[in-house]
Amino acid sequence: MISREKIKKTLSSYGKPVISTICSHSALQIFAGAKEEGFKTLGICTKDRLETYRAFPHARPDEFLVVDSYSDILKPEFQKKLIEKSAIIVPHGSFVEYLGPKRIENDFEVPVFGNRQVLDWEGNRVKERKWLEAAAKLRMPKDVSSENIDCLCIVKFDGARGGSGYFLVSDKKELEEKLSKMPKDVAKTATLQEYVVGRRYYFHYFYTPLSKDGFSAGNGSIELLGIDRRDESNIDELHRLGMDRDELQRRAINPSYTVTGNQPVVLRESLLPAAFSDAKKVVEASIKLFSPGIVGPFCLETVCTPDLKLVTFEVSARIVAGTNIYSDGSQYSQLFFGERVSMGRRLAQEIKCAAKNGVLDKVVY
Ligand code: ADP
Repeated sequence: MISREKIKKTLSSYGKPVISTICSHSALQIFAGAKEEGFKTLGICTKDRLETYRAFPHARPDEFLVVDSYSDILKPEFQKKLIEKSAIIVPHGSFVEYLGPKRIENDFEVPVFGNRQVLDWEGNRVKERKWLEAAAKLRMPKDVSSENIDCLCIVKFDGARGGSGYFLVSDKKELEEKLSKMPKDVAKTATLQEYVVGRRYYFHYFYTPLSKDGFSAGNGSIELLGIDRRDESNIDELHRLGMDRDELQRRAINPSYTVTGNQPVVLRESLLPAAFSDAKKVVEASIKLFSPGIVGPFCLETVCTPDLKLVTFEVSARIVAGTNIYSDGSQYSQLFFGERVSMGRRLAQEIKCAAKNGVLDKVVY
């Protein structure tokens, strides 16, 4: 694990930070937000995407670092270049997917916004459950053993896959049949979770250790900057066929949870206390488990059941693509700041505030 001291030392050699990320996922929002806060930006981009990332002048990075493949940035010469340019990397889903949490922890010496340790806690389902269920005491879907399938289950695989390849099973025979059609290395990471029936809400939080203006948590506070619901193909439209599960299976129509888009949502106001208190428990448990815990953006992915309980099936411990709906800020950010502030801009503000107060190492590791 790269030590905090090492990153702190690197930061002390920095000029004004340059906000940088891989050109994918939520990069346009991150660049636009950084530019709005007066930062220079650096896009790490493959050749085939350059034109796209030049196509939005307000979000266009000031400079590009061109790579053949995104995992190239692990190479020492690229890391050196990024450090020479005073880059702070903003991690997003594609960044974690291309580099992998372990390599980010152990081999990536460039300062990363937030706490790099958190990426392994979100990506590993055993650790995630230890964090959310055992430590934070959140309501989660039951963890089901493949030997004892006693309810309708969703079968998931490791890593941030955007729901791709997940499927439902109701008994062991169905599980074995479906797993046998998958690549062995993927199939062996299968975990089964009770399928929770209700309405889905994906909360976009920002935990700041630098301000107490939001919902009090840890040594700082939580801001709720937006809520979305994912569009997923084809599960969201299957009801239109009016077929039951058996008939769908007979016709070889398999539900799929692959994310295809996102929709803005507002929550029934009386559910907000539960949404904040769950987020607070997640932050405070993270501080206990991997001090200083989660820093910056995170998302709790939940199902609200008919008895109005939020059940959390996943945490994303970095900016999520659902925030792209609010690249000009959400109605919740308006209530918080008196103006609409995107998640990309909010994290640039955090870097600015930390740099001004000489505590960059509190929000960058
Ligand atoms: P990923 O981490 O790959 O994005 P998720 O765990 O978010 O995958 O699951 C993908 C989708 O599957 C969710 O957005 C949701 O629609 C559905 N889902 C996941 N877990 C459950 C669950 N326990 N009950 C009901 N639906 C679920």
